[in-house]
Amino acid sequence: KSDAPCVKERTLIAVKPDGVQRRLVGQIIHRFERRGFKLVGLKLLQVSKDLLSQHYCQLTKKPFYPDLVDYMTSGPVVAMVWEGPNIVQTSRMMVGHTNPSEAQTGTIRADFCFHVSRNVVHASDSTEGAQREIRLWFDGQDLLSWDCIDKSVTS
Ligand code: ADP
Ligand code: MG
Repeated sequence: KSDAPCVKERTLIAVKPDGVQRRLVGQIIHRFERRGFKLVGLKLLQVSKDLLSQHYCQLTKKPFYPDLVDYMTSGPVVAMVWEGPNIVQTSRMMVGHTNPSEAQTGTIRADFCFHVSRNVVHASDSTEGAQREIRLWFDGQDLLSWDCIDKSVTS
């Protein structure tokens, strides 16, 4: 079927420094596992200003950008690549509105935070953006494709 979802779609999810410092990594990973998405890349890293300026290239002129740099470099980030059908759009819904006070209950941002400048998690906002961000954050060799050993138990 031509409109079948792309099972191999991938997105970049990152637990921001406040999420790591607040010990939220496990709960955030749990939500993506629970949904049935597949983890294909994972690392803990201290983000550089250079990586950030490329990652947030559309935001570098915004008045909040210097504070965003301080925030995102305040400690390690957990960067992940997750895979699954329609994952870019679905993960944006799971993460919720950029401003947590406008995020729907049940989304990660609504459930764990209340301020736009401490909003716990990043998710790519388009398939093109996801591909660009994944290339920026990960070496191709660090992304692993895998299948379940016994498909009768878990798909
Ligand atoms: P999203 O993370 O939902 O894709 P954006 O790409 O617009 O949102 O912004 C990137 C990040 O910059 C946000 O997640 C947030 O951490 C920060 N940010 C965005 N807007 C503001 C703002 N008005 N004040 C402070 N920080 C902001
Ligand atoms: Mg964004």
